[in-house]
Amino acid sequence: RLIFIYMNKFEALGLSEAIIKAVDEMGFETPSEVQEKAIPILLDEDTDIVALAQTGTGKTAAFGFPLIEKVDSNSRITQGLILSPTRELCLQITNELKNYSKFVKGLRTVAVYGGASIHDQSREIKRGAQIIVATPGRMQDMINRKMVDISNIGYCVLDEADEMLNMGFYEDINAILSHTPEDKSTWLFSATMPREVSTIAKRFMHDPVEITVGHKNTGSENVSHEYYVVNSRDRYAALKRLSDANPDIFSVIFCRTKRDTQKVAESLIEDGYNAAALHGDLSQNQRDLVMKSFRNRQIQMLVATDVAARGIDVNDITHVINYQLPDEIETYTHRSGRTGRAGKNGVSMVIVSKSELRKIKTVERIIKKKFEEKEIPSGEEICQ
Ligand code: ADP
Ligand code: MG
Repeated sequence: RLIFIYMNKFEALGLSEAIIKAVDEMGFETPSEVQEKAIPILLDEDTDIVALAQTGTGKTAAFGFPLIEKVDSNSRITQGLILSPTRELCLQITNELKNYSKFVKGLRTVAVYGGASIHDQSREIKRGAQIIVATPGRMQDMINRKMVDISNIGYCVLDEADEMLNMGFYEDINAILSHTPEDKSTWLFSATMPREVSTIAKRFMHDPVEITVGHKNTGSENVSHEYYVVNSRDRYAALKRLSDANPDIFSVIFCRTKRDTQKVAESLIEDGYNAAALHGDLSQNQRDLVMKSFRNRQIQMLVATDVAARGIDVNDITHVINYQLPDEIETYTHRSGRTGRAGKNGVSMVIVSKSELRKIKTVERIIKKKFEEKEIPSGEEICQ
């Protein structure tokens, strides 16, 4: 009989037993490409890194695993800082890190973001947090109020760097980094590499190792792109048809403004759909509640603005629907990246008026993918 000496693929990357145990529990079988490339480098030496990989490729674990390995969980000093663009992402990353470090005794990760009590967050940090996950705005606020000490940070992660810069956080990031030690390591993770990201890399990083997975700025291989030409006033009717034709739909619907987002969600609810709105005019509590119900699938159709939906990782989203095309083409990559995650297939649909048709060509050029033109399903087809 043959005896296989089996080495877990995550073990081969140099991760310790505590993490391997957590990986097993989470059901990850093989490291993703960005994990395979980044983890050994980050574990091996204290270096700066720029890692580019499209959304849904497992970047959180690519920096999360090594960060957990690097910090000393016996010391209560804050050693790792992760900056991320939105509150939703902060919570998501914090939850992920808690899962990863389930078997690491004494490790505490605290999320710091706006819209929730700064005093509660400050208390949480004072209880000892080796890792802080923060939005740049709230972090800056806490530094100004001397509620946090980041002068001993050894590792600073800039997650979704392109998004943070898109959202105008350059100055905050600049100010925050000036409070961290010169000799820390900076790990920058991003889906795309616009000029602003290279500027940050040049300005704040020393000779970073660069890794790229896939092609810069292109979307996931698992997403197919479709567009539907309609008269502008028929957008809403088209949306309903598309949803009726896909009864098991679990989707994010992107609108351009908060107002449209709210209006479309309200109409859908009135018409008996399982929908909710997510945008910046809602209170933090409302937003958390909406995200929770969406994750639990109590909501089937999440109507959202781009800002509110940045980087959201919800499993098994079947469709992304562009109720309107975004102004910035890069935003399209981010929208469609909400589906087709973790090896699953997804569809990104665009409802488009005749006058916007040439924009589809521009998107195709940038994402290097072809769209399929499709017809809005007719009532009869749906009833078949
Ligand atoms: P990104 O930050 O690149 O957009 P995430 O880190 O949010 O991607 O990961 C996307 C999804 O893939 C998450 O649900 C995560 O739990 C899952 N995932 C990450 N790594 C693996 C892996 N090695 N095997 C299986 N699933 C994974
Ligand atoms: Mg991410």
